[in-house]
Amino acid sequence: MSPENSSEPPARDAAGHRGITPRPVFDQLPAYAAGKPPKVVEGLRQFKLSSNENPLGPVPAVAEVIDAFRDTHLYPDPLSTRLREALAGQLEVPAEDIVTGAGSLGALTQILAAFAGQNTDGVQDEVVYPWRSFEAYPIVVGLAGARSVQVPLSDDGGNDLEAMAAAITERTTVVLLCSPNNPTGPALTRDAVEAFLAKVPEHVVVVLDEAYYEFCRLSELTERERAEGGLAEGVSLYREHLNLVVLRTFSKAAGLAGLRVGYSIAHPEITRSLRVSATPFAVSTLAESASVAAIAHQEEIDEQVRWIVAERERIVAALREDGWQIPTTRANFVWLPLGERSAAFAQLAEEHALSVRAFHPEGVRVSVGPREANDRFLEICRHFRERV
Ligand SMILES: *Cc1c(COP(=O)(O)O)cnc(C)c1O
Repeated sequence: MSPENSSEPPARDAAGHRGITPRPVFDQLPAYAAGKPPKVVEGLRQFKLSSNENPLGPVPAVAEVIDAFRDTHLYPDPLSTRLREALAGQLEVPAEDIVTGAGSLGALTQILAAFAGQNTDGVQDEVVYPWRSFEAYPIVVGLAGARSVQVPLSDDGGNDLEAMAAAITERTTVVLLCSPNNPTGPALTRDAVEAFLAKVPEHVVVVLDEAYYEFCRLSELTERERAEGGLAEGVSLYREHLNLVVLRTFSKAAGLAGLRVGYSIAHPEITRSLRVSATPFAVSTLAESASVAAIAHQEEIDEQVRWIVAERERIVAALREDGWQIPTTRANFVWLPLGERSAAFAQLAEEHALSVRAFHPEGVRVSVGPREANDRFLEICRHFRERV
C-alpha cells in the first residue's frame, strides 16, 4: 500500500490517521442540483416545472406495458437488442450504430469514458462545450478526468459555433453541442452545424445532444431557420460525418424520464469503443420494453408533443406581447433571462406552488406544464413585471 510513485506521503492528521479522500477533481465538481418539487400552498394545485418532464406522462399503450411487466428477477439483455432493432427500423440506421445507456446521460458518460480523460503524461484532454448549457456536462467531463472548456452562448442564447470552433486545440478530443440548448432553448440549423463540422479536425468526436429533438421536429420554423437548411438533424448529419455522435433519449418527449433509457448513434469506429465503456446491464428490461412500445406508438407521442409545442408557442406569444425579450425556444421549456432577479422570480413562483429552475444570476428555465400551470406561470410573469 505504499505510494511508491508519489513524492509526497498522503496527508495525516494530528492523530496519524490518513482519512478517506476522493480524487482531487472532486473539490471542483459542481453537485447536480435536480429540479425541486413544488411547495405545498394552501388552496393551489402544485406543479413541477423544473425538470422538463412530459406533463402528460407515457401514452396509454406504453403505460400498459409498464403495468404488465413482471420479469424483475431476470437480468436484461446487455445489448438491448430489441430496442436497437426497433430504433434501427424507425431511424433507418444499422442497429450496430446504436448504443443504449441509462438515459442519454448514460450514453454521454460512455462517450467521455472512451474519448476524454487524463493521459499517461498527466495532461488532460479538453472537452469543449457551450455554457450555460446542460448542468450535467461539467460533472461528467470532470469525472472522466478531462478538462472543461466552456464557451459562452451567443447573444440569441444558442451555441456559439464560431467561438466553439476557435476553442478547439491540439488537446481537444470531444466537443459537445446541445440543440436545442438546455436551458435557453434555441436549436442549431443544419447549415450552421455543417459549417462547424467542416472546421473541426476529423479525429475530434463531436456529440450532438438532441434530448429535445422531437419538439424541434414538430415546431414551425422561423424564416432564418428555414433559410439555413432547417434545424440540424443528427441522424442525417451522422450519415455524412464519421466523427459525429447523436444523443437521444426517451426521457423528455416519450415521458420515460424515470425509467432511464437513451442512446447514441454513430459509426462503428466510435460504437466499438462505446460498447466497451458501457456499464453492463445499464438499461433494464422494463425500460427496454417501454421504449420499444413507445417506438410502436410514436404517432400518439407526436400528438402529445404537438400539444406541448402549441402550449409553448402560446406561452411565448403571451410573454412577448407583455414585452418580455426571450430567446426562440425549440424545446419543452422557456427561458427568462432575468439576471440578478432570477432567484426572486423563482421565490415568487414557489409561493404560487410552481417549482421552476433558477440559474441565478443568469435566468430561469420553466418547463411547459398542464394548461393550469402554464396559465399560472403567465400570471406570475405579469405580476413580476409590474413589481419592478
Ligand atoms: C434531460 C437532458 C438530457 C438527459 O436526459 P436523460 O434522462 O439522461 O436521457 C441530456 N441532455 C440534455 C440537454 C437534457 O436536457
